[in-house]
Amino acid sequence: MAKVTNRKDYRPYPFEVEQCQLRFEIQARHVIVSSRLWFRQNPKYSGRYRPADCILDGTGLEILSIRLNDREQEEGQGYRYDGRKLELTGTAEMQNFYFCAKVRIDPYNNKSLEGMYRSGDILCTQNEATGFRNITFYPDRPDVMSRFTTEIIADQKQYPRLLSNGNLLEKKDLGDGRHSVRWEDPFPKPAYLYALVAGDLDLLSDHFITCSGREVTLHIYTDKGKTSQARFAMESLKKAMLWDEKLFGREYDLDLYMIVAVDSFNFGAMENKGLNIFNSSLVFATDETATDATYENIASVIAHEYFHNWTGNRITCRDWFQLTLKEGLTVYRDERFSEDHFGSEVCRIQQVSNLRNMQYPEDAGPNRHPIRPDSFIDINNFYTQTVYEKGAAVIRMMAFHLGSEGFRKGMDRYFERFDGQAVTCDDFVDAIQEGGGKDLSLLRRWYEQAGTPQLYADSKWDGTKFSLKLRQENPNAAAPSPHTEKTGTSASRESSRPIPPPLAFPIPLALYDHNGTKLHEETIMFSERETERHYTLNSQSKPVPSLLLDHISPVEVHYPYSDEELLLLISADQDSFNRYEAMQRYQQKLLLAMNPEQTTEPADNFVERLRSWLTAQCAAGGDAAMPPRYLAQLLQVPGVQILAAAQQPPQFQALHQVREAYCTKLAGHLEEDMLSCYHALAQTSYERSDLAIGKRSLRNTLLHYLSRLQHNRNNGGKYDELASQQYQTSDNMTDSYAALQALTHYSPGPHSQAAEGALAHFSRRWQGDFSVLCRWFALQAGTPKPQTLQKIQELENHPLFRQENPNMLRSLYSVLSRNLPIFHDKSGAAYQFLAQRILQIDRFNSMTAAGLAKAFVAYKQLDEEGQTAMAKALQLILQQDGISDRLYEITSKTLEQ
Ligand code: ZN
Repeated sequence: MAKVTNRKDYRPYPFEVEQCQLRFEIQARHVIVSSRLWFRQNPKYSGRYRPADCILDGTGLEILSIRLNDREQEEGQGYRYDGRKLELTGTAEMQNFYFCAKVRIDPYNNKSLEGMYRSGDILCTQNEATGFRNITFYPDRPDVMSRFTTEIIADQKQYPRLLSNGNLLEKKDLGDGRHSVRWEDPFPKPAYLYALVAGDLDLLSDHFITCSGREVTLHIYTDKGKTSQARFAMESLKKAMLWDEKLFGREYDLDLYMIVAVDSFNFGAMENKGLNIFNSSLVFATDETATDATYENIASVIAHEYFHNWTGNRITCRDWFQLTLKEGLTVYRDERFSEDHFGSEVCRIQQVSNLRNMQYPEDAGPNRHPIRPDSFIDINNFYTQTVYEKGAAVIRMMAFHLGSEGFRKGMDRYFERFDGQAVTCDDFVDAIQEGGGKDLSLLRRWYEQAGTPQLYADSKWDGTKFSLKLRQENPNAAAPSPHTEKTGTSASRESSRPIPPPLAFPIPLALYDHNGTKLHEETIMFSERETERHYTLNSQSKPVPSLLLDHISPVEVHYPYSDEELLLLISADQDSFNRYEAMQRYQQKLLLAMNPEQTTEPADNFVERLRSWLTAQCAAGGDAAMPPRYLAQLLQVPGVQILAAAQQPPQFQALHQVREAYCTKLAGHLEEDMLSCYHALAQTSYERSDLAIGKRSLRNTLLHYLSRLQHNRNNGGKYDELASQQYQTSDNMTDSYAALQALTHYSPGPHSQAAEGALAHFSRRWQGDFSVLCRWFALQAGTPKPQTLQKIQELENHPLFRQENPNMLRSLYSVLSRNLPIFHDKSGAAYQFLAQRILQIDRFNSMTAAGLAKAFVAYKQLDEEGQTAMAKALQLILQQDGISDRLYEITSKTLEQ
């Protein structure tokens, strides 16, 4: 039965581990792990609680020997082991003791990709959150920090590289074809940061001189022949190191920083001390294989894992409920890094758009939780958009509230006070407010409440005074709690929803007059005591408010804007985010008022506004005052996910149709301008400057608009030809991929010949490149056509599809679940299909299975027909015997929220 862990039940661990010495003997069929641990009573525990025997985590370990204080122990006497916990009898009374274990593990057949496992011919580890217990016996919790040393013995030919955390002490040839190494990590750390890698790897080497003049060796290890593809990752790493010194005064602390790229990985990357392990898709990039978006993604994840060295490793979490302590903060840091390197305008829009597309649905769904959850069955289900991205948004509010200098002082205080410790979110806020010199108690409730606050704004102008009324509501403030009974079919428990206490947040705003001149700007702060707020200002004319500048707080603003007001903000708003926001609002209004039978035209002045931007861009060859990349973002029409959030119940197919009809109309009105602009944006050779990236982005946006015309007009295949030509002549992945999408996504029936030809060419050309291949699968699973589900089933049997690889699995199944008109097909076929696949995957990789099960997040919002269909799929999962606890947690909450 699944066991629930509650945040309020936290207790320190009874013991401390002074030292942990590990020895790995890598043999042909298994690995022998010997450990030596020095325990002593933990003063944080022994003063307060009753003495308890030492209990260690250890999942499915084959015990070869257990020794206590140098004496061999027998099962049932010196210890008891139930396959999950090892209890050491009689240790409660010991001031200290010495524990040795020898276990046998089989990483070669470990398909869960937790603990030690094989990726190709590389042996590697993934221990966060709870993987270390699959390797050896240990108190596998983040507040037990210890010094680790590692000895690895392995065949020299098969495993010439033997890596672990810290510094390399010694390397020995054992003479019998084997060799050994010893590593020592001088910094105490929890077990989740432990890592080991063995393999025949190529090495890209570089170095970085830190601010105090120390030389740090930088190593990126890859599969044979791939190091040249890791150059961009290396450059990104150096930029991140420099940035963290400049912006946060953080210097790297070891002499060596290693990154290893592996193809089989459940997540993006892992910040193991001194030895990051990365999903290879976030390391490898060349102009031919990586899109501009991929490049930026790589830079931000490299930075993220590097920043963890201080926010996560030096200072870690006391318990897993505090996960946002390191993840929210580190995401905030990587966001700022990206803003500084790729432009804050475009980054901010992307961040908020991600938040809306991914985090808001989670925050309104069955697995919603505060950024610091209160209970879980499996913490691995809580590596969520909420803990990460909303967590970062909460820190963004703090930083805004304190100002950048104040926030920096707060961070300095945090590092100073808690370095080397495992702490809580409360500790963090305490330090930030002390150092920052401003009370933050008003923001603390954000750690307790789930749900996206809705801010309803309305205004009046009486000829002299402008008054604004703001009211907040949070209908999803309470999180459903996990179920422990594996029944899964009981009637749904309607949770009563008491009115939650209000949240404090800043609302920076500006007022514009009808000429678009800014009249006023200030920040209103909601306090944690008020759900309503009134604001008045003298004004001789009726102003247009631009609310929540830069989307500084993670709330949604509703204001009854007229079309004229939105058009004014579209041309005049000086806040680049809100200008985009006005575009979004204007189009969202239009789209939500349409239905597939009745589509309306966008207003002339709106179309003319767009035309003038395009004309300017065209005249300037893409170098107009408004950066092309920003214009490309302005031209993004709100996606189906965002439109659906404003509709009850959401009609995904209808929204998709309406949206396509709208884009087609827009393209029809602007065809000539779009086409000439498309040509004007052509570049003779590939470069990666901001301007070049911006031009590609705008040009591909236009290509996609134009491609929609292909199928609505008798234009002789003109735009298919344009896309084909782009595909054939492109020298970079950004343009080829965009062309491939344009060719495949918009025709109503089966693919055109040109599309089929390009798809086939692409897979032939990239059959040897794992990440690019994943994108080829993803492109087809993401095609919004009725044939897609069938296509996915064909692709599952494609010779290049790897059935056990998480990237591959996600490239079909996660992508399907985000392909909303297809996933929510009325027949329920896609639900059923996904449920079956989830069950299959759960048998060997429950982490990936549980992640995929989050696809059913919209269950309660669906119409009756949809709910019935989805319930069937959910029940199919729940009725299966022996599903993993983590899959159970997600699925049962979804069905019975
Ligand atoms: Zn992280």
